[in-house]
Amino acid sequence: MNHVVFWVSVPHMKNLIAAIIIIIISLLPVACSANDQQAREALTPTDEGLTAFVNARIIDGTGANAIENGVLLLRGARIEAVGTAEEIPVPLGAARVELSGRTIFPGLINTHGHVGDTLGLEGGNYSEQNVLDHLALYARYGVTTVNSLGGDEALAGAIRASEDSADLNRARLLFAGPVVNAASPEDITERINDVAGMGPNFIKIRVDDNLGRTPKMAPEVYTAAIDAAHANELPLASHLFYLDDAKGLLKAGVDFVAHSVRDQPVDQELIDLLIDKDVCYCPTLTREISTFVYEERPDFFDDPFFLAEADPAVIQALEDPDRQRTYQAGAPYKEALRVALTNLKVLSDGGATIAMGTDSGPPARFHGYFEHLELELMAQAGLTPMQILVASTSDAARCIGLEEVGTLEAGKFADFVVTTANPLEGITNTRMIESVWISGNEVPRQR
Ligand SMILES: [Zn+2]
Repeated sequence: MNHVVFWVSVPHMKNLIAAIIIIIISLLPVACSANDQQAREALTPTDEGLTAFVNARIIDGTGANAIENGVLLLRGARIEAVGTAEEIPVPLGAARVELSGRTIFPGLINTHGHVGDTLGLEGGNYSEQNVLDHLALYARYGVTTVNSLGGDEALAGAIRASEDSADLNRARLLFAGPVVNAASPEDITERINDVAGMGPNFIKIRVDDNLGRTPKMAPEVYTAAIDAAHANELPLASHLFYLDDAKGLLKAGVDFVAHSVRDQPVDQELIDLLIDKDVCYCPTLTREISTFVYEERPDFFDDPFFLAEADPAVIQALEDPDRQRTYQAGAPYKEALRVALTNLKVLSDGGATIAMGTDSGPPARFHGYFEHLELELMAQAGLTPMQILVASTSDAARCIGLEEVGTLEAGKFADFVVTTANPLEGITNTRMIESVWISGNEVPRQR
């Protein structure tokens, strides 16, 4: 091409470009008609893009009653239709998946996890492979979306971007980047502006003194943080512990309450603030469990649903008496858990929106398994199975700004779980997983 550029004068160059454009345009109709023909062949006589899951009980995640003998019809990655067998005739040529006796519900959404940092019982291992491994592990447990609220590195953006793939079969990722901390409004603003450059879904801060052991972020600093996040058009999620901080953060414009209030009973003022400002409350009850449960061998170390994915070396390390003794320091969180359980019921009854979240991901907070433990604890708090499922699907999606997942409705991504027992009859039935589907792809079961 270079020798052409050397001898063609500028007017001739324009003619040459015009000629090339004409040649390209003349080729286009040929290319289009070839594509059209391929599309027609794909749709007739066998409609290969359609899959019908038939005769299942379908819980759509909206809070509506389950559909008995339902049909879930997929076209590729998305839901084409959902309803009763009478409402949704299975099109000729659609692949059929027989699911009598099974229940389908939307993939669980963890609105507070941590992805990619922990390997075994050690943090500081962030890598692409570790992120992908954690997302695959969540997926095998039926958690099809996770909002990673801290510890995320820049490559999280590329991993999130690759979810556009038609063969997606791991959990979807949202992330916050590093947890932001600073001592002054100016410094925190600068740091948030930096983190915003990573393209995160949230900004994450911590407002806590860790039971009096560390300095707590001052109100003028968290207010500046919220303003800086909003200036970057990002929502801000805050870690917290105390009722007064929850109120202060809500008045300052926080967008997501990332933990339970655990110091005292919540009151009507907090309920009103959550409702008026349309902010979701994420209980993370299993976070409390993780602070003390390993002081002795926990019951779930015998649960096959846990053992199916657990690393024997990790279990062995957690049974070490020296390590068990370190968990005695978590004793104050036993009381915090009791307060959190009571507060969850009061807030739910009061009309606040609850978003299921666990804070899983740091060492010994097991991705996937802890989400099912969280659902059990929510039931222990007094929520009904339907309330828990809504908090883990449609409300969770809305709380983290997602519109294309969280319910089984036409147009949404086909992210769902098939179980052999009905979670509405007992929330631990979410563990009876037969298969998990993301973007219409079955999640591989083997590790
Ligand atoms: Zn967290």
